Amino acid sequence: MEYQFFKEVNKSFDKAASYTKHDKGILEQIKTCNSVYHFTFPLKKDDGSIETIHAWRAEHSHHKYPTKGGIRYSMLVNEDEVTALAALMSYKCAVVDVPFGGAKGGAKIDINNYSVDEIERITRRYTFELIKKNFIGPGEDVPAPDYGTGAREMAWIMDTYQAMNPNLNAEACVTGKPIHQGGIRGRTEATGRGVYFGLKEAVANLEDMKKLGLSTGLEGKTVIIQGLGNVGYYAAKNLYDDGAKIVGISEYNGGIYSAKGFDFDEVYAYWQEHKSLKGLEADQYFEQPNLVLEQECEILVPAALEKQLSESNAPRIKAKIIGEAANGPTTVAAHNIMKDRGALIIPDNYLNAGGVTVSYFEWLKNLSHVRFGRMDRKYEESSIMRLLNAVETLSGKSFDTDIISKVAIGPDEKDIVDSGLADTMIQSYNEINEIRKYHDTDLRTAAMISAIDKIAKSYEQLGIFP
Ligand code: GLU
Repeated sequence: MEYQFFKEVNKSFDKAASYTKHDKGILEQIKTCNSVYHFTFPLKKDDGSIETIHAWRAEHSHHKYPTKGGIRYSMLVNEDEVTALAALMSYKCAVVDVPFGGAKGGAKIDINNYSVDEIERITRRYTFELIKKNFIGPGEDVPAPDYGTGAREMAWIMDTYQAMNPNLNAEACVTGKPIHQGGIRGRTEATGRGVYFGLKEAVANLEDMKKLGLSTGLEGKTVIIQGLGNVGYYAAKNLYDDGAKIVGISEYNGGIYSAKGFDFDEVYAYWQEHKSLKGLEADQYFEQPNLVLEQECEILVPAALEKQLSESNAPRIKAKIIGEAANGPTTVAAHNIMKDRGALIIPDNYLNAGGVTVSYFEWLKNLSHVRFGRMDRKYEESSIMRLLNAVETLSGKSFDTDIISKVAIGPDEKDIVDSGLADTMIQSYNEINEIRKYHDTDLRTAAMISAIDKIAKSYEQLGIFP
């Protein structure tokens, strides 16, 4: 039977909804997808031939504007996937208090089959089609990168939108742009770094770690990572730099495992050069990459696509903590199997929200037309200096110049973005963990309860437009 991703998301929704007391009609309104647009357009290929491209944009929830979510280029894109991913966007935005409804878009293409010029034509035409139907705009719907797209595509989207709508806020029509096209420092690494902050917070919880038979902290924790794309790379890199041991890595064409842990920087450099993990020193090389996920480790981070942990492999997964960096990597059946054997599952509807959180900061930056830190960095530096001078006067002693240079620093954009991201991930973890304890449930259900409560409140307080 064909996998029905939106149905899977809705199973988690229904489970969480049963813990709430909201009106049935409101719950149905939250769950349903508000609009889906399926369109096709012709691509003129470099050799002059014409190909029909199938594309979608789903806006799952209009309880807040704009709606927000990435654009995916992959052969797996279809209406069900786009709708499910848009729903996950609504819930994760609510969980981390990012004031957007959820959306997602995509084109059914294999990027390896097209030249850069062809991808540019697809992206610009895709944007043009969205403009025609009001499915894009700073206050309507704001795309971002996702699987198969990046800053380059976002720059083309902005340029196309701006050409058709040359107004003051046009830059805010898309996020994840290159820095010099209105992007923000820290967006590229944001999802992976958010995964790291979330996992760090989870393993800091003494009570939860005791239950798992683990010590607190990341130091020495063994990690298997699936996927070395943008999210997987930055998640693993941050975990590794903070003392975790990367023992397993799986990519689409093979995987490696080493009980003593890899030099992650070396592995990544090798991967970038060869686009293969074969040939690296390891205890074992796996032709079948998914077997890596079943090896011994404490934390498993699926950072690729949906449905990677299903009932067919869940009984063999040994990890005590599952950190869902991808969207929808675990089916409901797999979730239940792993939960029943005591694993702590840190769900996608919270853990990968770092990307959209920093997208929110980028959108704010574009609308305010000023870089974070530009107005106050120097002022903060002088305030610290004034304080240090006052301490020197009172104590009659002077600070070393290197102490002064370490302390008297005003934050720049990167620092502000990073602290906003860390704060969001930490606060939200503790919020959903409290809900989990209160209802004696799991974190996925707790995050969903939090999202449902927040979205329901906006319907209940604003009323429904006649
Ligand atoms: N595509 C990312 C996600 O799935 C980011 C979305 C955004 O920044 O709007 O969360």
